[in-house]
Amino acid sequence: MKIFAYEVRKDEIEDFKRLEEKYNVEITLSNEVPSLDNVNMLEGYTAVTILGQGRIDQELLEAMKNIGIQYLTTRTIGTNHIDLEYAKQIGIQVNNASYAPNGVADYTIMLMLLVLRNYKPALWRGQVYDYSLQGLQGKELRSLTIGIIGTGRIGLKVIENLSGFGCKIYAYDPYENPAVSKYATYVSLETIYKECDIISLHTPLTKENYHMINKDTIHKMKDGVILINCARGELMAIDDLIDGIESCKIGGLGLDTVESEEGIIHLDRRLDILTNRQIAYLRQFPNVVMTQHMAFYTKEAVASMVECGIKGILDMN
Ligand code: NAD
Repeated sequence: MKIFAYEVRKDEIEDFKRLEEKYNVEITLSNEVPSLDNVNMLEGYTAVTILGQGRIDQELLEAMKNIGIQYLTTRTIGTNHIDLEYAKQIGIQVNNASYAPNGVADYTIMLMLLVLRNYKPALWRGQVYDYSLQGLQGKELRSLTIGIIGTGRIGLKVIENLSGFGCKIYAYDPYENPAVSKYATYVSLETIYKECDIISLHTPLTKENYHMINKDTIHKMKDGVILINCARGELMAIDDLIDGIESCKIGGLGLDTVESEEGIIHLDRRLDILTNRQIAYLRQFPNVVMTQHMAFYTKEAVASMVECGIKGILDMN
């Protein structure tokens, strides 16, 4: 079978080569992001694997279908960059990746602690030999109530990790997971907003929860609340986050994902004129830690993502 792999990063190449032998398939590697401009490269292939940089919309799916693509895998857990309904409608089968939730869960705890202990301004000071303490006093997790929204694979692992810190943990998910009750108490979303010192999102992005963190929900939260997003950027309305930081309603943000990050994340844009004012403005605050959607990025997870990208195609075949 001939498979076309888009968006291949250097660190994936070794795994792709290994899988070519393991599954006896022919894989063409490209670092291009799928688009109408390069879809003709799929001529002669029935299967394609992608990452999450490009929008796989109706037009692109149509073009893929016309060229002969039957199977599409995304080497990501999230699938919101693909119009799944349309893919199904036109008969392109789609599969996504899975990997252990530990990497993202570890990272979530790291962001909580970085924000809670004022690491960003401490880092800035250290770089100019300012070793003063003033303004850097933090808080201990054991004194806080943490709210976890979404208790699937990653949310549960975050809760397990947090249980070692001795904090009170509240959780919300429309589908309760019995494994959670050992460490956390399920409560309503309203209670999470009202009572938690740190709120961390671990839900997929859907039409229903787009901008679930917005000026109204932020208004319900405790003054100085810390918000963490290692899930999907569009779960939080970026303009309302900015207002929340400016008004000091929000005490800190740990964002691995942010609204409108496509076209910026995972790319070297140092010499470009970036037009996304909100991201540039939000990232300069001392209490906002922003990273380039890299919570997933561990050696273990990448090997698993590449494996899913190829095996997922063979499973559908
Ligand atoms: P999962 O499917 O295992 O769990 C998601 C949970 O969210 C489910 O239990 C579901 O019932 C719940 N949920 C859905 N809508 C909800 C809502 N409105 N309110 C509360 N709960 C809701 O998914 P996962 O593997 O744990 O991934 C969680 C998120 O993390 C996804 O958005 C995924 O794309 C993202 N993610 C980010 C990175 C990264 O690098 N930053 C890496 C992997 C996954």
